[in-house]
Amino acid sequence: MDIGDNRVNIDALLRLFTCPGCGNPANKPPLFQCVKGHVACSRCSVNCRGSCPTCRQRMTTERNYWMEEASTFITFPLQTGTDRNGMKH
Ligand SMILES: [Zn+2]
Ligand SMILES: [Zn+2]
Repeated sequence: MDIGDNRVNIDALLRLFTCPGCGNPANKPPLFQCVKGHVACSRCSVNCRGSCPTCRQRMTTERNYWMEEASTFITFPLQTGTDRNGMKH
């Protein structure tokens, strides 16, 4: 994907919005965060039984509204079929 504009590091942005628990785009609210501020998708927040997939500390029931809001205007290539990193599992 060449957008001809390097002001935004798309790869880094997409990595940021990739759920550390399941590897899927964490782009559907609600996005919950742990006590350290890591975000996991809503499914993993439930499945991990309260421990953050990133740091194993406690997940909170606080939603990260900043991430939720930002995720709504990002187009996730994984959803549209270009699965560069989505194959490993
Ligand atoms: Zn997840
Ligand atoms: Zn964490």
